[in-house]
Amino acid sequence: MGVLVYGSELSTERKAVMKRQIDELRDQGKRIPCLAVILVGNNPASLSYVKGKEKACTVIGMDSKMIHLEETITQEQLNNVIRECNEDDSIDGILVQLPLPGGLSEKEALDVISSDKDVDGLHLINIGRLYSDEIGFVPCTPKGCMALLEKMGCNPDGKRAVVMGRSRLVGTPVARLLQNKNATVTITHTHTPDVKEYTKNADILIVAVGQPKLINSSYIKEGAYVIDVGINRTEDGHLVGDVDTDDVLPHVTAITPVPKGVGPMTICMLLENTLEAYFRRESK
Ligand code: NAD
Repeated sequence: MGVLVYGSELSTERKAVMKRQIDELRDQGKRIPCLAVILVGNNPASLSYVKGKEKACTVIGMDSKMIHLEETITQEQLNNVIRECNEDDSIDGILVQLPLPGGLSEKEALDVISSDKDVDGLHLINIGRLYSDEIGFVPCTPKGCMALLEKMGCNPDGKRAVVMGRSRLVGTPVARLLQNKNATVTITHTHTPDVKEYTKNADILIVAVGQPKLINSSYIKEGAYVIDVGINRTEDGHLVGDVDTDDVLPHVTAITPVPKGVGPMTICMLLENTLEAYFRRESK
C-alpha cells in the first residue's frame, strides 16, 4: 500500500522554520520581511485566496500589505501601484492576484513587477532564469511539487518523469524543475495520443490537467511517485484531484491527497520565496 504524503503537514513544518527565522530577525531588531498582495475587484474566490495569503503571513510573523483596488481601475493606474511597491523598500515580495478583471492585461501587470520582488515567479525574466539555470524565483505550485517529491524520499535523478499538462503556471515549469534534477521528462497534453503509453512507464507522475479523477490505476506504473495538482469541485461541493486516489493508492509508493496535498504547499512556497527575496535584498 502506498503512503499518502500531506502537503498540509509539510507546509506546517516549513512554516515553523520560517517563523523561527523571522522571530530571530525581530529579536535582533531587524526589519521584518513583507509581502504585498494586490487584488483588483471583488471576485469571491480571489478575495478568499488573498485572505488565505494574509493569514499565512500572520502565522509566521511576516508583514503583509493588502492593496485592494476598484474593478474600474485603468491599466496605467494598476501599473503605477505596482511601481510604487517596486520602489517601497519595506516590501520584499509583490503578488498580483490573478485573474485580473476583463480589460486589464495580466502579462503587462506581471512584467511591471520588479523581477527581484516577483515572488510568484511569473515575470518574463524569472521564466528566463528558470530556463538558463540562473537564480531567480520559481513559481510556487511547481516548487511545492518538488518539495513534496523530496518529502516522499524520491530523488528524480535518472528516473522517468511524466508531467500531464503543459500550462505556463504548472506543467511547463515543473517539467523544467524535474529536468534540472536529472529526470528524463515527458510532457503530455490534450494532443498526446495514448497518454497511458507514457504514464505506465513513469517512475514519477505529476498530474495537472483539471479533470476530476481522470487518472486511475490503469495509468500507473507499480511503485510510482504521484503528485496530484488538480483541484476540482464536484457537484456536491467536495474538492477532488485529477487522480482517483483510492484506486491508485495500492499501486504507488507515495501520492499526495486532494485536499491537503499540493494546495497548502503553494502558499508555503510563496512565503519561502518572499523570505528568500528579503535575504537577497538585505545581503546586497
Ligand atoms: P490549465 O487548464 O491551464 O492546463 C491544463 C493542461 O492540461 C493543459 O496543458 C492541457 O493540454 C492538459 N490536459 C488536459 N487534459 C489532458 C489529458 N487528458 N491528458 C494530458 N493533458 C491534458 O490548468 P492549470 O492551471 O495547469 O491547472 C491544472 C489543475 O491544477 C487545475 O485543476 C487547477 O485547479 C489545479 N491547480 C492547483 C494548484 C494548487 O495550488 N494545488 C495551483 C494551480 C493549479
